[in-house]
Amino acid sequence: MKRETRLMHYGRTATPGPANPPIVRASTVLHDTVASYKATKKARETDDRVLSYGRRGTTTAHELSAALCDLEGAEACFLFPTGVAAVAGGLTPYLSAGDHLLVVDTIFPATRSFCDQVLARNGIEIDYFPWDTTDLSAYAKPNTRLVLTESPASQSYEVMDLPALCADAHARGLLVATDNTYGSGWLYRPLELGCDISIIAGTKYIGGHADAMMGAVAAKGAAVAPLRKHTAITGQTLGPDDAYACLRGLRTLGLRLERHGENGLKMAEWFGSRPEVTEVLHPGLPGHPGAEIWARDATGCNGLLTVGFAEGFDAEAFVDRLRLFSIGSSWGGFESLAMPSSPDSGRLFTGAPRKGQMIRFHAGLEHIDDLIADLEASFAQATAP
Ligand SMILES: *Cc1c(COP(=O)(O)O)cnc(C)c1O
Repeated sequence: MKRETRLMHYGRTATPGPANPPIVRASTVLHDTVASYKATKKARETDDRVLSYGRRGTTTAHELSAALCDLEGAEACFLFPTGVAAVAGGLTPYLSAGDHLLVVDTIFPATRSFCDQVLARNGIEIDYFPWDTTDLSAYAKPNTRLVLTESPASQSYEVMDLPALCADAHARGLLVATDNTYGSGWLYRPLELGCDISIIAGTKYIGGHADAMMGAVAAKGAAVAPLRKHTAITGQTLGPDDAYACLRGLRTLGLRLERHGENGLKMAEWFGSRPEVTEVLHPGLPGHPGAEIWARDATGCNGLLTVGFAEGFDAEAFVDRLRLFSIGSSWGGFESLAMPSSPDSGRLFTGAPRKGQMIRFHAGLEHIDDLIADLEASFAQATAP
């Protein structure tokens, strides 16, 4: 069955019944007999969908995690209250004091903070490597355990050759984790490309409506058992309301990403023709670093793009004049967003410093003609005498 069709059938209840799985709120789950209670506790150790106690998630969260398993091609998927909690929960199970972690330099900044401020303090050695690495011999050490990647790169969208990097890492006995928030289980399937662990901030496209927070860690093979154990021990789960919002978001994930992708690419092409703009970062543009790899490994782009403006152009005033783009953190909802961006900040492997200001845009689901007209009007005011 095609995945567009599967999106409509996740969480179906027995008929006659509602089309969506209900919001199941529970801490305590009641039993009539001690035998039933004991059997449930035993069953949940091998079956993640057993309803046993609220801390292990209720049926609503279990339905969402089953859907994400299917989308990601995973054996198991565990849910967290935010994307950053999922990053923490997707790395910690595999690392002990004295271990070495390799992280791509172009990683999401909050993930870098977690590595540098929490993992490092707990005795984990961390090194960063450039996004275009496919041979880890210059970076791997005898105590290296895990390689953390993100493709396309946070804010600058360089595309990693994950199949080649995973082959090299596996030959060295290393696990590979990736942050798949850009692809969100729809545009990109890193577990099929060789990764062992795929982390998604469901706050973005899976929720899709700027009204829910969620993080997911999907895994296969040897990565599953430590993740299952660690998630249970640290008491991580997702509340039923956010799980419901994310399940509902999944119904339109494919449709929404189609429109976000179209609008984002059109905006990227349009910005590329403007004299005020010096560079447009978008993995669907020819000549973008790794664009050919993205075309090979993914099924499309999302609504993100980052635009570099000429030195002296007041890009922040340009953003302030926009009427359809609001300023705010996050992305992946229906709405268009713009905010200042400095992709190189905190990175170790960077080119010549950029002279002008950069703005990260998220193309929402509005009609593209209106978005372009809004941008055009702001440019017109900037150049007016
Ligand atoms: C937003 C984001 C996160 C964190 O998600 P939150 O739900 O905001 O905690 C992690 N990784 C990437 C790539 C993101 O864009």
